[in-house]
Amino acid sequence: MRIMLTTTLLLALAAVPAGAADRLNVVATTADLAAIATAVGGDAAEVTTVARPTEDPHFVDAKPSFIRVLNQADVLIEGGAALEAGWLPPLVDSARNPRIQVGGAGRIVASDAVTLKDVPTRLDRSQGDVHPYGNPHYLLDPVNGGLVADAIARGLVITHQCQRLLAQLQHHTESMRVDYRHSRQIKYQ
Ligand SMILES: [Zn+2]
Repeated sequence: MRIMLTTTLLLALAAVPAGAADRLNVVATTADLAAIATAVGGDAAEVTTVARPTEDPHFVDAKPSFIRVLNQADVLIEGGAALEAGWLPPLVDSARNPRIQVGGAGRIVASDAVTLKDVPTRLDRSQGDVHPYGNPHYLLDPVNGGLVADAIARGLVITHQCQRLLAQLQHHTESMRVDYRHSRQIKYQ
């Protein structure tokens, strides 16, 4: 009888839809990263974006309200390669959230997933502003979008520790990868 009751309880719990409390609180620095995180995370992620799509991602207006958003974050996705170097570090420091500090389980650095181009052989400002670690605008190549989607999926699973989410994410990233491969074959006029 006890076993039957337990089984009934488990079935009842499984039927309860995932509420907001069950969702990962994901913050993405830019709109393109947020779009990928939303597609990958599905129901498992509530995604907030810091930079407006119209803002230069190198020069984002770092509003104090972002500190609270980052304080509550389970996951922070950054473009990396110094894209946000001018404004993100002080916000993260002020947020006092160990999950999203550099090296924290909830910190996803998207540039780690791609091979950066245009890495300078020497650093000086004689040719204007530089990308010290290579071009951080790598999402202009849609194939890199698939690689970043994979990295975000892995990062969310590590944070969430959930096999069901893993299966869901693998399905999402697999279908996205197909889409991205296809996009490479499109001939642009
Ligand atoms: Zn740039």
